[in-house]
This record gives sequence, C-alpha cells and structure tokens, in this order.
Amino acid sequence: MTATDDTGVENPKVKPPKKSAAGVPAVMHALEYSLEQTSLVRAAINLLSINQTNGIDCPGCAWPEPEPRKRHKNEYCENGAKHINDEATTRRITREFFREHPVSELAAKSDMWLNEQGRLTEPMVKRPGSDYYEPISWDDVLDLLAAELRALDSPDEALFYTSGRLSNEAAFLLQLFARAFGTNNLPDCSNMCHESSGAGLNETLGVGKGSVSLDDLHEADLVLAVGLNPGTNMPRMLSALEETKRNGGHVIAVNPLPEAGLIRFKNPQKVGGLVGRGTPIADQFLHIKPCGDLALFQAINALLLKAEDAAPGSVLDHEFIDTHTTGFGAFTNHVRQISWADVLEVTGLSREEIEQVVDRVLSSRKIIVCWAMGVTQQKYGVATVREIVNFLMLRGNLGRPGTGVCPVRGHSNVQGDRTMGIWEKMPQSFLDALEREFGFTPPPKHGLDAVDSIRAMRDGRAKLFVGFAGNFVRATPDSELTERAMRNCRLTAHISTKLNLSHAVCGETALILPTLGRSDRDVQATGEQFVTVEDSMSIVHQSHGRLAPASQHLLSEVAIVCRLARRTLCDAPAIPWEDFESDYDVIRDAIARVVPDFEDFNDRVRKPGGFGLPNPVNEYRFNTPSGKALFTSNAFDRIRVPPGHLVLQTMRSHDQWNTVPYAPNDRYRGIRNGRRIVLVNPIDIEELGLVDRQLVDLVSTWEDGVERRATDFHVIAYPAARGSAASYYPETNVLVPLDSVADISNTPTSKGVFVRFEPAEQRSRSLERPNAVIASPAHS
Ligand code: SF4
Repeated sequence: MTATDDTGVENPKVKPPKKSAAGVPAVMHALEYSLEQTSLVRAAINLLSINQTNGIDCPGCAWPEPEPRKRHKNEYCENGAKHINDEATTRRITREFFREHPVSELAAKSDMWLNEQGRLTEPMVKRPGSDYYEPISWDDVLDLLAAELRALDSPDEALFYTSGRLSNEAAFLLQLFARAFGTNNLPDCSNMCHESSGAGLNETLGVGKGSVSLDDLHEADLVLAVGLNPGTNMPRMLSALEETKRNGGHVIAVNPLPEAGLIRFKNPQKVGGLVGRGTPIADQFLHIKPCGDLALFQAINALLLKAEDAAPGSVLDHEFIDTHTTGFGAFTNHVRQISWADVLEVTGLSREEIEQVVDRVLSSRKIIVCWAMGVTQQKYGVATVREIVNFLMLRGNLGRPGTGVCPVRGHSNVQGDRTMGIWEKMPQSFLDALEREFGFTPPPKHGLDAVDSIRAMRDGRAKLFVGFAGNFVRATPDSELTERAMRNCRLTAHISTKLNLSHAVCGETALILPTLGRSDRDVQATGEQFVTVEDSMSIVHQSHGRLAPASQHLLSEVAIVCRLARRTLCDAPAIPWEDFESDYDVIRDAIARVVPDFEDFNDRVRKPGGFGLPNPVNEYRFNTPSGKALFTSNAFDRIRVPPGHLVLQTMRSHDQWNTVPYAPNDRYRGIRNGRRIVLVNPIDIEELGLVDRQLVDLVSTWEDGVERRATDFHVIAYPAARGSAASYYPETNVLVPLDSVADISNTPTSKGVFVRFEPAEQRSRSLERPNAVIASPAHS
C-alpha cells in the first residue's frame, strides 16, 4: 500500500532515475510478485507456457513473439510475468465480500486495493436503490440484461465497449451481436490510444496497421523510437532493438523523459544481460517537449529537401516518389516554409540536434519509425503520423526489408479486435460481408467512439453500457465527468475477471458477469477450446489457457455473448449462437468467410506460430482513392502554453498495467511509495517559484473555462524536457478535458494538458471559484 503521513498525504522516496532496464532486478521482481499472487505450481505453469507456440498469449501487450524456431523458453518480460500471474491469483471475491462492502465504499477504494481483492467468482447484481451487489444466477442475469436491451427505445441507446483483451472469436461475435441488434456503438480502448495511427496511416497508405516485422527491425540501419517507453510498456521490444544494434544499426529515441529502457538494456535471456553492462540502445536521445513531434518531423523533412537541393538526385528516392506517391509538390511547398523559430520553440530542441538526426538519416538506407501514445494522444496526433509517413517516403523507406511504419500497440489483441469488426465505423465492404454470411442488413449509420459514448451517457442519449473487459471509468479522460455519465445510465454491465472502479461507479442497475482469464482452461460442449489473437505486427496465432478456472461459475466471453445474443435477438436473424459457443472452430469458419485474408483460418492458425496477415504496403499496393501513397501537408499552430503553465503528459509507472498499479513504485524512475508525484525539470521548478518535493495541486485549464484539479501531488525534480511535466494515469485523467481531443481521431489529448501548480495550502481559496472541479480524493 502507499505509505502516507498522518494527514493522508503520500510520502514518496526518490532516488536518481535508472540508466538501464531489465537485468537481474527484473527477474527478481517478476518472481516476487508472481509468488505473492499465486502458488508456485500455477505460476510455473503460466511462465512455462506464456508466449510459447501452444501456450498462452501474454495479455500484457501486443508485442510479437519471434518465429517458433527462434523462440526462447522464457519468452516474456517482467511485466508479462507479473500480469499473467496477477490474473492467476489464488485470491477470490465471494458473495460474502460484497455483503461486507457496499458499492459506495468500493467507489472510494484505490485501483490497487480493488485489484488486490482477487478474482470474481459468480454473477452479481446491484438493483436500483440498493447499495449492495447480491448474487444472481447466470440465467437470471442474462435474462435481465436481454430484457433491458429489448426495452430500449432504440438500439443506439446501448453501448458495447471492448478492451483489447478480447480474443478474435469473442470480438467477432460481439460486433455481430451488436450489429444484429441494430447498432454500431462499439467504442473500444483503441479510440483512446492508436486511433490517430489508424487515421493517419489509412489516409496516406490505405491500411491502418504497421508494415514491419521483427526481422525488419533487426536489419534496419536506423530506428526512430518516438513517444514510447519500451522498458515498461512493451519490454521485449528492447530485445529487438538490441538485435538492431548488434547488427550495426542505430537507434534515435525521442521522448520528453530519459526512459531507462531506451538508454541501456540488460537482456535477462542472456548471461551477458544478467551479469554484464548490457547494450546501449539510443545513439541519440532527443528530449523533446510534449507535442513537439510534428514540428520535429517537418524540420527533418525540410532539411532533407535542402540536402537534395544541394546535391540533386543524391538524397530523395525519386523513383519511389514518382511511381508510388501523389501530393509531393504541395508537401514540398508547405515544408519549405516552416519557421525554424517555431520548430525550436515547440520542440525545445536545438537546430544542431535536429541536424544530427538528419546526418544519421542520410547515412541510413533502411529506416523504421516506431511510435506509441506520445505521438497519438496529442492534438496533432494524426498530423504527426502523416508527417512520419512523409519522412519515410522521401527516401523510399516503405516496402523494402528493414523499412516501414511501426505503431506499437499496448493491449494484447487491440489490433485483432479491430480486424474482427470492433469499430464504430467499419467500411461498407465489411458490413456487406456480414450481410452475405448471416442474412441481415447491418445498420449503415456510424456508431459512437469512446469520447462520444461518454457524451451520450452524460446527455441521456445512451442508457445502457456493456463493457467487455477493461475499466472504462478509469481509462477515459475527465474522470469526474465520466463518472457522472456512467452513473447516469439505467444499467451498466461488466464482463470482468477482477474488480475495478467501473463496477462501483455504475448505473442504477449494475451487473458483474465474471469471465475466464487468458490463463484459464476453456472447456465447452465439444471439448477444450483455444482462442486466437493478432499482435502488433499482424501475426495471428493461438492462445491456450492452462490453469483450472478461478471458479466453476465462470463463463467464457464467447459463451456470454452467445447466450446474451440468443436471449436478446430471439433467433432473428438466425445465427448459430449455440454452435458458436460449443465449438470455436465454427466461429473461425465464419470469420474466414467474412474477414479478408482469413481464408483457411482453422488450418493456418494451427500451424506453430500461426500466420501473418499481408500488408499491401509491402507489395507497393496502396488502398487509397488514387491507388498511390499520399504525401500530406500538415500545418501546426505553435502551441501557446499560457504563462505559468507546463504541458503535462500522463504515463504509466513501471509497477502498473493499464489502469492497475501493482505497487506504488516506479523503479526505473527512482520513485517508491508514491503515485501522486509530478516530474518536472529543476529549472522549471525554480522558475515557477516552487521547490523540490513541494506539495501542490495540479490545475488544468481549458477553453471551456472549467478548472480541473488533482490534489496533493509532490513535485519531483527530474531531468524532464523543459516546459513539460509528467504524472501517472489514471490519477491525472481528471485533468484531461473530454473535449480536448486529437483532430480527426477524437483521441483524448492525454499527452498535452496545460497545467499550473498551486501550493496545496492555497486550495480552499481556489475552490471558491465557480467552475472548479476537484477529483474525488479517494481514487484520483
Ligand atoms: S513484451 Fe508485452 S507481450 Fe511480451 S511478455 Fe512483455 S508484456 Fe507480455
């Protein structure tokens, strides 16, 4: 638990940030946490099968595994081990637990406490007016939910949220059910992370996915790792970057914080990584200001054009540009006019640093750009992705081995869920294929994404929320508003493995439908089943849980969708829900007939390692209106940070998986016993008139005039980029205004929040202002 002083304020311990990631400490922490959670036998079964060809796909993130013959027998990282054994915990939540803890009490508990209570074991209902969950049978809970769905005035009053844990099979059935019911309201966690990537890539290259493989990363001359923190969020990416380095390639890291994994990696799979100094990763580290990435890539592109002017024919790949692209002229006109004063102001970098990048680019034939939420969760997220594509196309860094785009996804099957149709605006061709297969006409009207879903709940336009996995109220922005929106629902239902705040911040009626985890054995009428997932590099493969389920009363997500669909739709249209539930091969056969590139799904996915989905970009085919890749012109307004404000980015700690902190520590950043901390450059601390370790409130300001406040944060002097601040989510989600979203993608701008710091002792005066919103102190 978090150590606090007797006023309830945290008392964090701070050491200098680490300069390397993984190594022996990672192994020790993984084992320690695993054995705290579960038995030696269960932990061992999980760790021996995680990411193996016939084992469990790690739910920790979407990073791919090497091909089977190159796979290590310990093919996982510290965070994967912690996450899978957190799920395999032997702690159980029983009906007695809910009798002892009213919903109002649970709503005031921390995310960590809720997670620590263990696995959910039977369906529960909170009835209108009651403050307690009580047990309910599966038949009754599904009847109740189906009746409430049927009672809606319109199918569009229902929301079906998905987190990226869902398997391909469950995701395919869920979108089928939602569309047969009559709505495209399929918000998902991707709306809040890589929506900007999909939007930018679809527009420019015709496909919203990454184009690279692990082999491409290994053989690249240069990898730019932008706005990501692999040491914590996708640790085995470091093995790939280690291989890039070993093969003579270079890495440039672009991040406001000096993240340990990007500095040096001690690979725990190798003796040299355990006992040696490890491998230096970043050859150059650009400590960019948050939201400066678009300006950086435009400046790089401008310098490449200048180099081409100086030595025509020696810099740009004219054959690629002439043969495969459009829009080059408008792009060059635009980029040649950038203001260097703006670039330097927005990025916080020097011109020399940017020129050094260009020198590396010019000496590299094969370049990959990897990025994550540091790029996507900002106002210009889509524009930045488009500018990255411009950058790669200038020198033909697409389609060839060792080149390409690499959006690094966080949730394990978030990419697969999209492929299966979890999207509020799937293309008409997909809806037509559903119609051909199942004999009904899916609704053509686009549905609601995550941000619009919150607005609809707030305004009473959506009345029923069904969440498949995830923790919606904690993963989303503007916590106070989102919680009010959720409580505004007539019914909320969560299909979950463990308890989280979304069960307690709930609708008038609330349901908990406990489900199997990734590590649980899934046995249906025809025998034991496996599910499939698609990783960040479009490899589709099996996942096969090995453990006895946490309770005999759990249903798989597939079974829950099938039973709910039968009760809600009453066999119209005629869809073989019973067959789907009893044999997942039947689902995969249907997927093969509906989803492009999944022909012979059942056969191909049974091959060790599964199969890769083709990316047309690698065949120089671009599914854009012109049939060519598109150069774009991306204007950026110089971000005007109000005086006395910093640009806040929200982030995870190392001891955290999505919204769940496992401990109040962040080893790589040197933080112990503290979640309510904010990392700030020492010069900024001084200029703001503050001192290191001072207790402050973070106050975000936005054009709606509302001042959102998160209380009692310790300012920590840290080598962060000037003008920036960094603090943990979900505690700081309260500061992200719902309407502050990325252009086009509607992704919350969690990496670009203007905040000021108010000494905590001034709080009572500030709260007298109208429009002040304060986060609920219990879980904020
Ligand atoms: S890198 Fe990601 S998928 Fe791999 S073991 Fe770690 S958390 Fe799991």
